[in-house]
Amino acid sequence: MNRPNGRPVKIRDLGEFGLIARIKDRLPTLPSSVIKGIGDDAAVSSLSPGKKLVTTVDLLIEGVHFDFSFLSPYLLGRKSLSVNVSDIAAMGAAPKFAFLSLAIPERMSIASLDEFFRGFLETAAAYRISLLGGDTSASPGPLSINVTLLGEGKKGAIVFRHGAKPGDDLYVTGTLGDSLLGLKIAQEKGKKRISPEEEYLLDRHCNPTPRVREGRTLGERRLVRSMIDVSDGLLSDLGHICEESRVGARLWVERLPLSPALRAAAVGRKAVDWQVALQGGEDYELLFSAPPENGSRIQALGRKWKCGVSSIGRIAPLESGIVIEGRNGPVDPRLFKGYDHFGGPKSKKSFREKERKASRGGSWK
Ligand code: ADP
Ligand code: MG
Repeated sequence: MNRPNGRPVKIRDLGEFGLIARIKDRLPTLPSSVIKGIGDDAAVSSLSPGKKLVTTVDLLIEGVHFDFSFLSPYLLGRKSLSVNVSDIAAMGAAPKFAFLSLAIPERMSIASLDEFFRGFLETAAAYRISLLGGDTSASPGPLSINVTLLGEGKKGAIVFRHGAKPGDDLYVTGTLGDSLLGLKIAQEKGKKRISPEEEYLLDRHCNPTPRVREGRTLGERRLVRSMIDVSDGLLSDLGHICEESRVGARLWVERLPLSPALRAAAVGRKAVDWQVALQGGEDYELLFSAPPENGSRIQALGRKWKCGVSSIGRIAPLESGIVIEGRNGPVDPRLFKGYDHFGGPKSKKSFREKERKASRGGSWK
């Protein structure tokens, strides 16, 4: 869509209401649980009988959480919904309804916005999520995206961070560290050709897959006692489970699931593969704890799932803290804290953290 002078049409040519109409026109037919979606003062919908409402919100700011130099508007649309879907999955619930608020810089083209919506709505369709509303404003600064996602979970099947017990086994889906290394690759300046391994890692960063089926199954079969999605990094998110559950944990470095691509790309980048996996960030895998008697059922599910499941450690009493068993003895966990937006006390001391902050500008969460 171009103006007569050939320049692409900008948001200001469309206006707020034109934009909302444009969004509405692209939506598929709504399910019968929705009484009113976009177009009124509020949306109205019903939950399935007996289900609990599970809600999550994420704010994504250009320059802090994402960077158009390597993330296309299409992938941004996908990712901004996927990271919320991952939070609902980590509760053992199913995503249902989304609300999307945008503050859009005037310089943004309609074509980019259309691409954003293509990614967002494709992801919504894949998980049977209906977009029911939102808010739209101009932004004098960066693009900002706020997604609210409502899901539903069966009573008793919803899994919290606070349920871990000493003696539980610790598991994680998929592989860890791919996204962090993918980000590093994206930031390598002047790089022209990238290998298939690098391509894979970049995709893991830009186009994460939330583990919805996996999280729901673990919750609905009552197999797990605590769960979280790995967004800040394995150690940091394990810390959240330990804090909320008032427990400690022991991790075995040898057991961390590493992709062949991560192993290959770590060589030559002065990166130690297992350290990248421990620190990670934006993996969007599920970390969960389960009593030992459920081990064989969880392993059987892991063999069925494409992403797989790995047993990586055990929950311990609070007094023992978090212990990492390295290849040659214990490793100090304080060396590997996840990202903290405000450089809180947990991350202050670590040089790695500062370095990461400087190069990255932030994490998605
Ligand atoms: P109000 O002024 O009553 O808040 P708006 O004019 O902001 O209403 O919005 C009109 C309708 O369009 C509402 O249903 C709202 O949820 C929806 N809407 C606004 N912005 C978006 C957006 N970015 N994505 C989806 N729906 C939106
Ligand atoms: Mg409004």
